[in-house]
Amino acid sequence: MAFSEQVIDQVQQASDIVDVVSSYVPLKRAGRNYKALCPFHHEKTPSFMVNPDKQIFHCFGCGVGGDVFSFVMKHEQMGFPEALRHLADRARICLPEASDTTPEARSLNERLYQIYALASEFYHTRLTNPALGEQARSYLAKRSFDLEAVKTFQLGFAPPEWRALLQMLTKKGFRDEELLRSGLIVRSVQGEAYDLFRNRIIFPIMNAQGKLIAFGGRVLGDETPKYLNSPETSIFKKRKELYALHLAKRFISAPGAIRRVLITEGYLDCIRLYMSGFQNVVASLGTSLTEEHVRNLKRYADEAIVIFDPDPAGEQASLRSLDLFLEEGMAVKVLSLPQGIDPDDFVRARGPEAMKPLIEESQDFFDFKLRVLLARYNRSDSLGLLKVTGEFLDSISKIKNAVLVDRYLKRLSANLGVEETSLRSELKKLKQKQTSLRFTKPAGSQVGQTSDKEGPFENILLSLLLNEPMHLTVFQEMFPHFVFSSEKANKVLHLLGQMAHEEALSRHSASKLLNRVRDPELKNYVSNLLVREWGSARDRDRAFHDCMERLRKGERSEQLKALRHQISQAEKTGDEKLVLQYVREYQGLLGKG
Ligand SMILES: [Zn+2]
Repeated sequence: MAFSEQVIDQVQQASDIVDVVSSYVPLKRAGRNYKALCPFHHEKTPSFMVNPDKQIFHCFGCGVGGDVFSFVMKHEQMGFPEALRHLADRARICLPEASDTTPEARSLNERLYQIYALASEFYHTRLTNPALGEQARSYLAKRSFDLEAVKTFQLGFAPPEWRALLQMLTKKGFRDEELLRSGLIVRSVQGEAYDLFRNRIIFPIMNAQGKLIAFGGRVLGDETPKYLNSPETSIFKKRKELYALHLAKRFISAPGAIRRVLITEGYLDCIRLYMSGFQNVVASLGTSLTEEHVRNLKRYADEAIVIFDPDPAGEQASLRSLDLFLEEGMAVKVLSLPQGIDPDDFVRARGPEAMKPLIEESQDFFDFKLRVLLARYNRSDSLGLLKVTGEFLDSISKIKNAVLVDRYLKRLSANLGVEETSLRSELKKLKQKQTSLRFTKPAGSQVGQTSDKEGPFENILLSLLLNEPMHLTVFQEMFPHFVFSSEKANKVLHLLGQMAHEEALSRHSASKLLNRVRDPELKNYVSNLLVREWGSARDRDRAFHDCMERLRKGERSEQLKALRHQISQAEKTGDEKLVLQYVREYQGLLGKG
């Protein structure tokens, strides 16, 4: 691990979980806990709890839980080091340099972020400058983008000059090689450096965490290309990033609604929809969607609605992207606009109200694909029918959920008038062909999955041990060799024992314990145990006493069983003396019960 336990604890102490969580979700006091609608699953009544005493959260609906780090990691879709840095920033704690990236790479990335931030400011100021930005502003005004849109998306203008940005950045002390690395400055064949973007409206591109990583630029005049992106760098991967996701993510996962994201092709379409009240919208960055895009989106949304240009090229692109969503197990629909109209034009001409029904009526993957395929092939012709079924089954074979597969096969059978059984056997053949193409999975992937039938008794006991340090001490003295039947419980007991050994368990021990758990599933398990309310200390004591009693009885019956076995063994060998000794022990043990 890159950071010491000490630093982690320091950040934890400075980040009150109620403060942190309530900056994302409104919390309501409920006894000693706080309640909210869970931000991680859909629900109508709150089952998401935050416990300030133990500094943990847990959702009884979806089972997610953990400490303040787990919350930020899950909500911001960050790894642990990023979450730690995020919370440290928030608490104004200065972190020592992490050792997971080399100092060179880290400092280069830092320089790139600085260059992009300065460039963005420069472009934005140019756009808003009364004289210098006039032409660009009038272009935006003509397309009805107001000042609010300019501010929300931090739009900018790259002046029609060759070295405006270069001069500004050089003055700020950046070296040529850094500027060339950023891609915002390029070098001519003659070796002269100049600005990449000239006479273009600038669209800053942020990553999901809101950090500026790239720019898109739309030309003001007639030059080509119409759209130009800054190149990929160590901070920008085009295949992964989506425009406006940092703004949209809040609206995608608004609790209580379907987590739905709209996907457009262009920046202007995206901005138009956002400013018209469809804030759950993102745009691909001038590329067709990739697996990485879908995986990135899947963290925030359950359903995607792809809005594409209704021309053959757009249709083909959407057909391809549908399969990506299916493969990742995400629901996907397609919204078709009238021929030749993009979302920007549509909303401008007909108003946001006209958009709503289109979103609600967007076609699911099945209907869309069927319509496109039937328009392309003639199904009354056998070859055409084979084409349609073949392409359809290809998509269906990518769906992992059996219920959905079943549903689609039934619909396909009804729509094409083909027997369902024939479709099934074709699908089976197709799948066999696909698996034989892939590497076979290593055998025994089940190994390591111990059966976790953690009985309620064991959970009660473990939760008591977590809640009351005194109980742990007593328990360890009475049953030093105790083993839980569940692997998870044993891991927790082991960690608890370690921590108790290192230091006296304190108020923060529960969350400290969680810090040491890296496995998310185990984290959920621990937070579930921690969040249990035990009422008064007397209730806890009584419950603990019952547990100890039960264990003692369990242990006794084990011993009795062992003795019975030894007696019968001794009888077989005819050792009368030994038999007598065991029988006495047995009677003694019985008397103790
Ligand atoms: Zn939940």
